[in-house]
Amino acid sequence: MTDALTVRSRDLAQQAMDAMKAASGEAELAQVKSQYLGRSGSVTSMLKEIPKLPPDERRSAGTSINETKKHIEAVFAECRDALRGAALSQGSADPVDVTLAGRATWRGHSHPVTLAWDSICDIFSSMGYDIREGPEVETDWHCFEALNMPQGHPAREMQDTFYVADGVVLRTHTSPVQVRTMLHEAPPLRMICPGVVYRRDNDLTHTPMFHQVEGLVVDQGTTMAELKGTLAEFCRAFFGSETQVRFRPSYFPFTEPSAEVDISCVFCSGDGCRVCQSTGWLEVLGAGMVDPAVFASLGRPEYDPEGVQGFAFGMGIDRLAMLRYRIDDLRLLFENDVRMLEQF
Ligand SMILES: [Zn+2]
Repeated sequence: MTDALTVRSRDLAQQAMDAMKAASGEAELAQVKSQYLGRSGSVTSMLKEIPKLPPDERRSAGTSINETKKHIEAVFAECRDALRGAALSQGSADPVDVTLAGRATWRGHSHPVTLAWDSICDIFSSMGYDIREGPEVETDWHCFEALNMPQGHPAREMQDTFYVADGVVLRTHTSPVQVRTMLHEAPPLRMICPGVVYRRDNDLTHTPMFHQVEGLVVDQGTTMAELKGTLAEFCRAFFGSETQVRFRPSYFPFTEPSAEVDISCVFCSGDGCRVCQSTGWLEVLGAGMVDPAVFASLGRPEYDPEGVQGFAFGMGIDRLAMLRYRIDDLRLLFENDVRMLEQF
């Protein structure tokens, strides 16, 4: 009986092969395949006969029918490829299947910090400021000493510092770029320096690496009024023309007098809300007139504190981006979740 089944399966393989080779198109070819291998096809029916065989014959019968099945599948694939090749070479088949779903092209988006950074640079450039950059690894002198913060100065504790080596730090602010510029260029100066800065801070509202931009103007007759006008103009350009600005007295070691600058709350327009803690104001930057001691530490006659005055200001780019784009969690800026970034 096994012999009979083996012979029958070989016959079927031969018949299937002849029929598939004779097929004139893919549809006919598929139909032939289904006649043999489909659910009620002749090869499938033979498999169903196996359980009726004596146990010692079932294995060899199964093997031979499975070989037939594989053989038919191989011939089917061969014939199908041949038919497609022929159709393509005759130009009768369209190689592009226009019914397929299209592939979306993913466009990159600028990060909100990059957008804020670019916007800040644009606004100050239009006011005649140059853009300067400097090293992120700094000497203690450029980062602190030259800015009126000698060893042991209590203000150093306001900025928890990462030390790279003795006397070498990761800059805690971008002010050393101002120092480097003043060491190489004579006044008048009008510059901003955006960049990455580092502090040993990590909680809900602080990250150990963040972005800052500082500005410096040095000239003869530079005044606090000019500083106030410049920052008010900047805040209106960045946050909108309705923005109110106010100065509050403050302290920074490198400016005297110093001020903290608030804008009317961008969330509630000054009415009071959770973000501004019902005050209607948000602190956005610090500023002041350059302390004469900073000019004196440069040791350059062009920066004689008797002859020049200057003002400086600094702000966190991340915070500005959060306020401008109404992002309420600092961590969202650094997680780089594509679902968040796509919105910009
Ligand atoms: Zn508010």
